[in-house]
Amino acid sequence: MADVLIIEDDATIRTALVRSLSARQHSTMTSPTALDGLQSLVAHRPDVVLMDLGLPDLDGSSLLAMIRSVSDVPVIVISARDEGAGIVALLDAGADDYLVKPFAADQLEARIRAVLRRAEPVRPVTAVTVGDLVIDTRTRSVTLAGEVLELSPKEFDLLAYLAERAGEVISKRELLANVWNQPYGGADKTVDVHLHWLRRKLGESAEAPRYVHRVRGVGVKLVAPA
Ligand code: CA
Repeated sequence: MADVLIIEDDATIRTALVRSLSARQHSTMTSPTALDGLQSLVAHRPDVVLMDLGLPDLDGSSLLAMIRSVSDVPVIVISARDEGAGIVALLDAGADDYLVKPFAADQLEARIRAVLRRAEPVRPVTAVTVGDLVIDTRTRSVTLAGEVLELSPKEFDLLAYLAERAGEVISKRELLANVWNQPYGGADKTVDVHLHWLRRKLGESAEAPRYVHRVRGVGVKLVAPA
């Protein structure tokens, strides 16, 4: 189920497209010219654009460039049989797929599904694993070897910051700037105290570190125990 904008000057084809898309539960809007289509795109933000290559007011590559300047919407180009060379240029210019007339309604449906699938946002990574530590930034929960750790909000932020940069040496200044939002520095003690609490909850100490390692004169790093 998608909102489909059809930019097509041929009324017969337009009507046929609306009918077949509506039969597949899509909602449609139509434009007979490139410029009308652009206005409709900006006003209605469709999920997919079907764009005829032979429009009266603009050539396909100009229309595509204008679409791309305002939107990342998936664009499927519809062309006549003799426009093959233009298709390659349009795919290079950011069209997502194309169909050559005449095509079956099922083909169009398959193309629409495919471009919508590709347009789905990639889920950001939400869990970071370092050794037996699993830090879930979405639920703000931490487990160590399957056991839930009760961390304060700041301890969590500190651990998550280090875990996302596991193996890198992070200075206290960087931690103050990014975890405590004190870009101009502050009390180093704040970091030391939180590191101490964090270590205790991880079941380790500065003298016998496992995950949290001090790098003298530089900062601290989180690593998986050997
Ligand atoms: Ca046409």
